[in-house]
Amino acid sequence: MPDQVNRRLNPRRASFPLFAGLGLAAAVAAMAASGVAHAAAPPEPDLILFHGRILTVDPHDSVVQGVAIRDGKIIAAGSDRDMLRLAGPATRRIDLHGRTATPGLIDSHAHIADAGVVELYHVDLSDASTVAEVVRRVQARIVTLKPGEWLQGDGWDEGKLAERRYVTAADLDGVSPRNPVWLEHTTGHYGAANSAALRLAKISAVTQDPPAGTIDRDAGGRPTGVLKESAQNAVRDLIPPPTPQQQRDGILKSIDDLHREGMTAVKDPDIGQPVWDAYLELLHENKLSEHICVLWHAGSTLASARAALTVIQSLPRPPQSLGDGLLLSCGAKIYMDGSGGARTAWLTQEWHKNSTDIDRGNVGYPSTDPEIYRQMVRLFQRAGVHVGTHAIGDRAIDWVVDTYAQVLDETPTMGLRHSIIHANVPSDHAIETMAALEKRYDAGYPEAQAPFMWWIGDNYAGNFGPQRAQRLVPLHTFLEKGIHWGGGSDYPVTPIAARYGLWASVERETLKGTYGAHPFGTAESVDIHAALRSYTVWGARQLFLEDRIGSLEIGKEADIAVWDRDMYTMPAQDLRNLKCTMTLLHGRVVFDSERP
Ligand SMILES: [Zn+2]
Repeated sequence: MPDQVNRRLNPRRASFPLFAGLGLAAAVAAMAASGVAHAAAPPEPDLILFHGRILTVDPHDSVVQGVAIRDGKIIAAGSDRDMLRLAGPATRRIDLHGRTATPGLIDSHAHIADAGVVELYHVDLSDASTVAEVVRRVQARIVTLKPGEWLQGDGWDEGKLAERRYVTAADLDGVSPRNPVWLEHTTGHYGAANSAALRLAKISAVTQDPPAGTIDRDAGGRPTGVLKESAQNAVRDLIPPPTPQQQRDGILKSIDDLHREGMTAVKDPDIGQPVWDAYLELLHENKLSEHICVLWHAGSTLASARAALTVIQSLPRPPQSLGDGLLLSCGAKIYMDGSGGARTAWLTQEWHKNSTDIDRGNVGYPSTDPEIYRQMVRLFQRAGVHVGTHAIGDRAIDWVVDTYAQVLDETPTMGLRHSIIHANVPSDHAIETMAALEKRYDAGYPEAQAPFMWWIGDNYAGNFGPQRAQRLVPLHTFLEKGIHWGGGSDYPVTPIAARYGLWASVERETLKGTYGAHPFGTAESVDIHAALRSYTVWGARQLFLEDRIGSLEIGKEADIAVWDRDMYTMPAQDLRNLKCTMTLLHGRVVFDSERP
């Protein structure tokens, strides 16, 4: 099917304007057979984009000058002459003035609902460069709060702090004597509480680490305030959740940010009922101007998995959607391990510190009991439900791909597209297994974040150590093995813009260069063509939307991003500085830099 569409679209192979859909297929076939261009009355497009360089990302990577759009879908693509010939009196024309357009970009892993709330209501620490700066920002917000009110901050990363150490309660207590404080690390896998928060959470020197969690302690055994993985819950559970209004506003804020970056589809992994309700409400109010595919939080027990399954079974299954492709309940999210930032991800070899030091005895740990995990996946597999599993460390990734292989062999089902979220340092065995699963079952796809190497790359390089770092996010090997992956930001772990991911897929540079500019090497780089596919067609597949979006082909939706430069010909080093000038969703302009 894609090849046929392409033959009709590709200007090198056909010299007349071509139409599809809206009952015109027969006319097109007759036209093609007779070779007569004017045999069928052309449908009048609502909109024509012309005088552009349109990277269609079709199977042949065709580049065309223009596209014609009707009822939100692409009805023709080709030369300016052929597109403009279709225009009628009511057709709107947008002159791209030679600018480049691509399919709307797709993020296969971004927590946009949660992150929007963070952006609007929490103290932003993502660009703090010293502990003192973190403390100053906390102090500035504290004075606006009533005694006892929670202060929440987000986005700090010791890899970006001059001191290269955690923020601790001792740093925070001086400015927050009467308010509990929780500052989440940018990865979301650990955070820093002040002493007031620790008291409320009943965490003291005698508190034991919970299962799959770590209470960081000083030399005297006293909690430092840093809580990792499940240990965070003692504090987090005390913080009032966002109000429904804040949740809605957070989503709308993220959607606006996405439009500004040419992004029209997102997989929001790990949601619960309040977020779903907010999405649904916005959809019903016609305010959900983004394709959203969600994964439901499945917890780490069989009981929590069954509860998630009950919800999933009450909703349409992908590719069925709500709002004509806008909102999809895609499946379930499970965590296999922790973070490369906190050194909690589950490895076969010990973690490093400061690049060459060994973090003796620490190989991380699974965040879900491996046997329970396998039963959870089996439960979803038997119910025909897509699973996305967070797995960072090689040992975690092995367990996840072996689980997928086992349950798929037990209950063979095509097209569930189980994914390995992050897939940071996959073993050779894991890579071979992913390749086999993709071919055999249309499953086992990595949803990888190239921007980790940049935004948290200095921290990562220090923790993974010089050898293992070379294997981080091995996109080139994926490509060699025929593995398709979805690109993503894991926003708010890294900034939302997909242009950073396009750039990082090619350049593999860290933010600060603490351990050199390229501690991850460049052997695993891919070119912009592959990088763009991971943020378009390959991403679309992971959102179960490959028939609707991901490339600019006849019959697909007119989700389009217009850029100030041509990503195929510009220096790759500048990709991160691309500027989106216009974004269309279903042929409707949702962002225009000239009318911001
Ligand atoms: Zn995530």
